[in-house]
Formats: sequence, structure tokens, C-alpha cells
Amino acid sequence: MYISDTIAAISTGMNNAGIGIVRISGEEAFDIASKVFVQKSGKSMDEFDSHRVYYGFIKDEAEIIDEVLLIILKSPKSYTTEDTVEINCHGGNLVMRRILKTVLKNGARLAEPGEFTKRAFINGRMDLSEAEAVIDVINSGNEYALSNSVKQLTGKLTEKIKSIREKIIYEIAYIESALDDPEHYDLVGYYDRLEPVISDVYGQLMTLKKSFNEGRIISEGVKTVILGKPNVGKSSLLNILTGEETAIVTDIAGTTRDVLKQDIIINGLSLNMIDTAGIRDTDDVIERIGVDRAYEYAGDADLILMVMDSSEEIDSEDIGIFDFIKDKKAIILLNKSDLPSKITEDDVKKYSDKFIMSVSARDETGIEEFKNKINELFINGEINYNDEVMITNERHLFLIDNSLKSLEEVKKAIGDEMPEDFISIDLKNTYEYLGAIIGEQIGDDIVDEIFAKFCMGK
Ligand code: GDP
Repeated sequence: MYISDTIAAISTGMNNAGIGIVRISGEEAFDIASKVFVQKSGKSMDEFDSHRVYYGFIKDEAEIIDEVLLIILKSPKSYTTEDTVEINCHGGNLVMRRILKTVLKNGARLAEPGEFTKRAFINGRMDLSEAEAVIDVINSGNEYALSNSVKQLTGKLTEKIKSIREKIIYEIAYIESALDDPEHYDLVGYYDRLEPVISDVYGQLMTLKKSFNEGRIISEGVKTVILGKPNVGKSSLLNILTGEETAIVTDIAGTTRDVLKQDIIINGLSLNMIDTAGIRDTDDVIERIGVDRAYEYAGDADLILMVMDSSEEIDSEDIGIFDFIKDKKAIILLNKSDLPSKITEDDVKKYSDKFIMSVSARDETGIEEFKNKINELFINGEINYNDEVMITNERHLFLIDNSLKSLEEVKKAIGDEMPEDFISIDLKNTYEYLGAIIGEQIGDDIVDEIFAKFCMGK
């Protein structure tokens, strides 16, 4: 694919800010920049060096629009690998738009969302999974998500996929050679050698597949619902958690006005809290039970926090909640530990095998332990995010699933001692599915779809 036109876009946010960047990329980038940029010295752009910053003004014909710093990046040492100019201007909405308009008037085309990254991919600077990681880095909402996206951006997933593909292509080549040239390649006993190779590759892909759920939790956050009767201290606990870290409070579309979603970050992990604490004020039924609405959300939650008032006896409503959470990941919080206790951990253990902790929202005791426990459940325990490559992208999951299915066919064919050419077909399919993750043998339509999800200017 050869790209001949020159694109431009505002690459920074559209809020008024100190600095903004208008980026131009393509064969005409320097020509266009030379028509809109002037220096006091009157130096021509031909004399500019790559990777240096030049001070001057952007003008639209005779009119000066802004005072700027211009960066010249000569091909191939730029993000897109094309000649690139970055205009560092003032970050006002109007001024950035005026500069962009002037650049477009002088021959650039407005970039589509993600087009700079798409060019980086098409020009071979990064593969598809790395390009996809760029948007994940931008959208990372917490440190774990960021760390995982950066890992993918720097090629960790690519490395893994490539090493698996190498093993597969070796076997394909071996089979093909043996079929073509039986005198020199011996297939006797070949399946005994092939079987462990396939098992190993299958295991590696299975690990990647399993990482998807953890990966999703890390990138999107732990869907968390607080359950408990009225007055046990749900809101108080939530306030403590949100009080320390910034919370984003938004109404969830299509739900009652009482249900709020709050994103809390606990030690780097995002918890998407469904807060139903206000419900009892408006609805009689829920005033009595206090948990009905929460149950709806709790159904597909990753984590349930059950709050109890330890100064009150266990009653049938509590038992209903114990029953509801029995197959779920949950923590039981015995709140109000500052008051004389009527429930002990042992009392609760008769009904539930979930992890139990004593806390006091009033005195803020037990809160640190509680936070650590949450991280332990999702990070130290089940997500070994430090050295594992995780997948977070549905497209990758789909392709890995298909690869696994093809490998299952291979395993079956080995078991049934089918002819080698059968195996070769399924190995080739596996090879192609995995290739699509890094962008080999992939259609333009899919590439367009992937980059359309990007933001403007990236
Ligand atoms: P919710 O209905 O479950 O959301 O409960 P709230 O957070 O509104 O708390 C109900 C009442 O219990 C309020 O008066 C709180 O001040 C009180 N409360 C909450 N947590 C504690 C605690 O740890 N100790 C004591 N003594 N009171 C608490």
C-alpha cells in the first residue's frame, strides 16, 4: 500500500490548554509547513535540521495567527515514518482550529481518526497488535491497565505470537518437504515428535486466552456491587473509599436516578462501584430489604462487598444475601466494629465461606487491610501482571480461540493417525489466525475498522 497524500490534525485535546499540537504527516509536510511558517530570520525550511525545534509564527497569507515552535521530523525517523511537522502552538480551541484550517488550505487533508497510527502500521513501524496498544495506552484508566498496554506497545505480545508461529511454520515446512521429497525426509515416528510441540503451543495459547478475563478487569475495572441491609454502613464505607481517591460520579443511562456508578482506584486497581445506597429513600419495597436493586447488578459483578452491622444479630435478610453470594467472589465486611458486637466471624462462617473482615467506617479501622485484600484478590492472587503478557482485546481473543480450535483438530488428527496433509491444513489455519493478531494477511476492511476506533489526531 502506498500513501501519497499528506494529512493533518490537532493531536492534543480540544479544551483550552497552555499548549496544543497540530501535526502534519506525508510527502508534502515540509512544503505545506514552509507556506504557513515564518521565522524572524527569514531562514528557509530547506535549511532546517531534523529533530530540532524552530521558533516563529504561523501565518494565513499576510495575517499572523499564532506564535509557535515548529518541530521537523524527517522520514523515516517519525511516528508515521513519513516526513512530519509538529506545530506546537497555543492550546486554545480557536487558535488550533485556525492553524489546522490554514494547513488544510495549503494542501493537507484532514486526517481520519487513528490515521497517523494506521500509517505507522502500514509503513511497518509497528505491527497491528502494537498499534492497537496505542489506543489502549491512551484509554488506560489505572496503572495496571497502563502497564499492560505499554507491554503490548513495546512488542511483548508480538514476541509471544511470533515465537509460537515460528514453531508452527517449522512443522508445516517439515510436513510439506516430507510429502514432496519422501526420500530425504522421514515421517516415521513424526507424530510422536509433533505431539509435544502441539501440546506446548496449545498450552501457551490457552494461557493467553485465560488472561483475557483478568486483562479485562485490569483495563476496565472490577465491577463491584455493595450489598447489605439499610443502615449497616454501606454509604459510609463508600465515602471513605471515595474520599481518599478521586471518584467520578455518573448516572448510568437507563437506570433509576438512584443508581450511581463511581470509579474508585484502590492501590492502582479500578473498582467500578455500583452504588445503590440512596435507593431506600425512594422505594418502599427496597426500604424494607435494601438490596433488591443491587441484586440486579450483582448478577454479573466481578466482586461483591457484603456489609453487615456487627452490632445487630444475623437475620433472614442476611441469610438471603449469604445465599446469593455463595458462587461469587465476595468479601463480607462486619462493620461498626467500634460498637459492642453481636456477630463474630465464627457466626458468619456457619453460613458463608467468604472472606470476612471487621471494619469500622466510623473510626476508619480495618480499611487498609480491606483495600489490600481487594488487590490481593485481583492482582497478587490471580493476576500475575508482572511477567505475564495478557490479552485485553476482543479481536485477539477471537483469533486465539480459532487457533485453539484448529490445534484441537491437529491433536485429534494425530490421535486418529490421519495423513500428514490433514494436519498441515489445520496448522496453516492456526498460523494465519495468529498472523492476523499482528496484522499479517489481514484485509483492509479490518484494518479500517480497527483504526476507526482511535481518537482524532493519533
Ligand atoms: P447504609 O444505609 O448501609 O448506606 O448505611 P449508612 O452508611 O447510611 O450508615 C447508617 C448509620 O450507621 C449512620 O448513622 C452511620 O453514621 C452509622 N455508621 C456507619 N458506619 C458505622 C460504624 O462503623 N460505626 C458506627 N458506630 N456507626 C456507623
